[in-house]
Order: sequence, then C-alpha cells, then structure tokens
Amino acid sequence: RKDVGRITTGSSGFDELIGGGIETQSLTEVFGEFGSGKSQISHELAVTVQLPEDKGGLDGECVFIDTENTFRPERIEQIANAFDLDPEETLQKIHIARAFNSSHQILMADKINELIQSGVNIKLVIVDSLMAHFRAEYVGRESLAVRQQKLNQHLHVLQTIANTYNVAVFITNQVQARPDAFFGSPTKAIGGHVLGHASTYRVWLKKGLAGKRIARLVDSPHLPEGECVFKITNDGIID
Ligand code: ATP
Repeated sequence: RKDVGRITTGSSGFDELIGGGIETQSLTEVFGEFGSGKSQISHELAVTVQLPEDKGGLDGECVFIDTENTFRPERIEQIANAFDLDPEETLQKIHIARAFNSSHQILMADKINELIQSGVNIKLVIVDSLMAHFRAEYVGRESLAVRQQKLNQHLHVLQTIANTYNVAVFITNQVQARPDAFFGSPTKAIGGHVLGHASTYRVWLKKGLAGKRIARLVDSPHLPEGECVFKITNDGIID
C-alpha cells in the first residue's frame, strides 16, 4: 500500500502500540465498556487529524458520525487549545453527522463520497459508536443474520472510502464488562465474527487504577500483541 498516513492519538505509547498512530487505508476499532475512553479518543483524533504532518496530523478534515449524541464541541475546544489550534476553525473542520437509526447511519456513510468529491479534504472518518443502533434495532436470534449483513455492507462502504481516498476510519464499539467473556481472547467473546475481519487494528480499552486507561492491541496481522497505559486529561489523551 502506498502513501499510508498516520494520525497521532496524543499518547506516544498508544501510537507505538498500533505502529505509529491511526493508519489511513485501514479500519481501526476500539472496544471496551462504558467510560473506557472510546469517545474521548474519537474527539482527540478529530482534532489531531488537522495538525500538520510534522505534528502527527494529516492537515485534513474529519467526518464524525455520532450515533449516541456523544459529540461535545466544548471538548473539541479544550483539545484544540491544548494543540494551539483555533477552536472555531477546528470545529468547522469536523463534519458532524448525527445518525438517528441504523439506516440513517448507513446513509451518512454512503454520502461521504459526495463530500470528498466536492473538494473537502477528509482524512478521517469516525463512527462513534458503530453498533449501538444495530444492537437496539435487530434484537432476537432470527434477526442476527440480517443485522450482520447490513453491518458488513456498512463496513464495506467504510473500507472502500478508506482505500479510495486514503482516509483513516476509526470505529468505537461498546462491550459489556463480562469478566467471564474476557478470559482467553476477548475478540472471540464479543461479536468477533462481525468485526473481526473488517478492522485491521482492534484495540481493547480497559479502565485502570487512578483514572488511568489500558489499551491492548489484539488480533493484529502484523504487529505484536501488547499493552500501553494512557490518561485522559482536560488537554486530551496523554501517556
Ligand atoms: P461510553 O460508551 O459511555 O460513551 P466511552 O468509552 O466512550 O464510554 P468516554 O466518554 O470516552 O467513554 O470516556 C468518559 C470518561 O473520560 C469519563 O468517565 C472520565 O473519566 C474521562 N474524561 C472525560 N473528560 C475528561 C477530562 N476533561 N479530564 C479527565 N478525564 C475525562
């Protein structure tokens, strides 16, 4: 693959874990329980993608598909300030798409092509969170096949955008804290069959002691499994 770009998470430990930051032409998935930091990292990346390349960004803009109303402009302002970016300009380069249900979410992703073709320099697409609507709408065993088919189509669209336009795709996935399910490979326990193939990088987020967070890379085809510790602060994500 040519011209792969990388976006910093704000934490050098986290960046190293995934091979130098969130990669373009790839899907990166973070999964973990509530409060583990999925939305915080999403906000951080929406800002850092705008940084120049020598600061860990791609000088680009971002599409933020928000399915649970978690986007907070105030948080973007705080993080932008920490990077000496103008908060207003930073917010203008984040294209918020609020998805009210799963069909709407799919439609939003389909429309990203048009935005890019109109000349907007999108370098990052965030879906926070990927599964919330799908889980709520497709309940019961009999609907699982349809859910998976829709989800696969959605992921395929996202992967195609990543490849076609050299864009990074970052998706969050909430999973319940079920200690029993986490023995062995967490991936197998948590709908791994749905996302396992699609995301190139899968990172499991856990809450640690004293407000710390632990990120663990799982299932990477070409990077070693490993862990790092990071913190969430007013200024964003740090080591
Ligand atoms: P959910 O699925 O509930 O959205 P999540 O994994 O997306 O969970 P986040 O919203 O990313 O969770 O993380 C929330 C946590 O981030 C809070 O519990 C808090 O500990 C931490 N946090 C948020 N803002 C700050 C801040 N300004 N300074 C320090 N910590 C913060």
